[in-house]
Amino acid sequence: MKACPVDAIVVNLATGAKDVLEDRCVGCKVCTIACPFGTIEFNPESGKVDKCDLCDGDPQCVTACPTAAITYIDADSTGIDRMRHWAAKTLVEATQ
Ligand code: SF4
Ligand code: SF4
Repeated sequence: MKACPVDAIVVNLATGAKDVLEDRCVGCKVCTIACPFGTIEFNPESGKVDKCDLCDGDPQCVTACPTAAITYIDADSTGIDRMRHWAAKTLVEATQ
């Protein structure tokens, strides 16, 4: 969201997801480089990027998973700080 030069990624106030505004995205792929988790993909068909939008607050991956391996819970209870730490470390190592 911070890397996008045209402010095409915005916070969805209802779900908290960072949504890509398709009509604003110019397909420059800067966000795909900036994301330390590698979760933004360039879509060659649309010429834009795709990322998780939390399915408007009803994540279909959670519903579909047959072993309940995916849960949709408050990020503060998931060890998000630890994830951020490792993401930052990975980013630093990748740029060295
Ligand atoms: S690909 Fe789209 S969303 Fe990503 S940085 Fe470029 S304009 Fe922004
Ligand atoms: S199915 Fe899951 S990963 Fe895919 S957009 Fe919906 S919430 Fe995100």
